[in-house]
Amino acid sequence: MPDVDLVVVGCGPAGGIAAREAARSGVQTVVLERDAVVGARRVCAAGLRPGFCEQFDVPAAIVHCETPHIGLISPSGRRYDFEVGAARTTTREELDGTIAQLARGEGVDIRTSALFRGVTTSSDAATVEYADGQTGRRRHISARRVFFAQGSTARLDEGPFGYDRWPRGLITCFQYRLFPSRPAVPVAYRTLEMHYYVSGSRRNVIAWMFPKRDHLAIGLGVMGKIAGSELRAELDEFVRKLQRRLFPDVAYTIREEGNLLYGGKPRPTIASGQLLLGGTAAGLVDATTGEGIHEAAASGRFAAEAVVAEKKGKTASAAVHYRRATTRAFYGRLRHRHKLMTFLERRPVRFDILFEQLESTPRFAKLLQHDRHDFTLPQWLYLYAQAARFGLRASVAR
Ligand SMILES: Cc1cc2nc3c(=O)[nH]c(=O)nc-3n(C[C@H](O)[C@H](O)[C@H](O)COP(=O)(O)OP(=O)(O)OC[C@H]3O[C@@H](n4cnc5c(N)ncnc54)[C@H](O)[C@@H]3O)c2cc1C
Repeated sequence: MPDVDLVVVGCGPAGGIAAREAARSGVQTVVLERDAVVGARRVCAAGLRPGFCEQFDVPAAIVHCETPHIGLISPSGRRYDFEVGAARTTTREELDGTIAQLARGEGVDIRTSALFRGVTTSSDAATVEYADGQTGRRRHISARRVFFAQGSTARLDEGPFGYDRWPRGLITCFQYRLFPSRPAVPVAYRTLEMHYYVSGSRRNVIAWMFPKRDHLAIGLGVMGKIAGSELRAELDEFVRKLQRRLFPDVAYTIREEGNLLYGGKPRPTIASGQLLLGGTAAGLVDATTGEGIHEAAASGRFAAEAVVAEKKGKTASAAVHYRRATTRAFYGRLRHRHKLMTFLERRPVRFDILFEQLESTPRFAKLLQHDRHDFTLPQWLYLYAQAARFGLRASVAR
């Protein structure tokens, strides 16, 4: 007999929400997290889309800044400003740490310094092997279902989730937490900035500035592998550009951080037998913005719902239930975003055409912030008309 109903691997937003919501419905849950402190080593700009805290029942105390504006800066250097509802920023220490604390409150057993090593499956259970960093021992735990949520560094080449295009979608990110000696200009704390440009070495770069209470998260991502020195030089140049506008003549200290992000299409397989896969490990990231926290948390919720439904006999297969919910919610939009990003990057002038159109048609900009399955028929028709308009103008632009 399995030891527990559910083992969750990884305690980011995907794993944390899955564990909390499963346990809340009576599913006996263990989480394995490789870090000693949940969230302490996550590298992220930690921008939350409007309504995130309410949707996932996370206290607003984790919010650092309300950021109702987003500034999109195109490769030509032009800036476009939009309203984005009540977007917010936080830190991953607070987000992941708070979700983990809430999960513990529901009875989840979160084992930290627990490095997942492998899994074997039989007809009705899975046995997970992990290295217990606290005792130096190898341990096993068997479960009815396993939810994998290890993020972009998940090694899944072998087994049911293997995807040969995965390495091509990896983005190298480098970020500074920049602590100014006195506050930046006030507008910096109310705006998320996203910059799209082509570097001196002809690489497509996405860079950002997300404000926090006591620091600014300033970073960039470049597709593929790139030398550390080149990445640092690029980021230093970007910081200099921002400083002139946002914190002129202000001294600062920095903390450097690096991580991989994924910007390809979602994995074709995300559920198989006893195993479910969610969050960034499943490729649930918006390729145009790098946003993946909402997608991770939602996939965690779907995993919990699937496991609960199966336990209560409401579905014959948690895997089928989970796959349906997750692909329906995200696959259409995320595949489309990946296609859009590839289209934009082929001719940088297309960024201006898109951003101009978004700026002049706020309804279009607002709809793009929604998940596709939320749309009504008139909204779909409006979106198709806007997309056709953009497609025509962008195809002829030089
Ligand atoms: C620089 C950067 C900036 C970003 N900014 C934003 C943003 O502003 N807004 C946004 O929405 N998204 C952003 N993202 C994307 C976002 O960080 C991810 O989409 C999100 O963290 C995915 O959550 P997750 O739970 O799937 O995985 P993660 O948050 O990566 O969590 C995975 C967890 O699994 C653990 N783990 C990994 N391997 C093992 C193992 N073998 N055994 C046990 N545990 C393991 C890790 O320690 C970690 O705690 C950013 C990403 C990067 C890299």
